[in-house]
Amino acid sequence: MSERAAPFYCPYCGDEDLRPNETGHGAWECAACNRAFQLKFLGLLARGARRTDGGGDGT
Ligand SMILES: [Zn+2]
Repeated sequence: MSERAAPFYCPYCGDEDLRPNETGHGAWECAACNRAFQLKFLGLLARGARRTDGGGDGT
């Protein structure tokens, strides 16, 4: 299994110009907004991946 997860878009500005940060370990930096961020895998969800919304708006 690969520990690396490459983001496709910057979560802050949405730009695609992402580069791996020198700190490594899932760290990326955005060349567009100069932000550095890190991805972390938290684990698999205990529940099933599929979940149907009730559709209630709660109004
Ligand atoms: Zn960005």
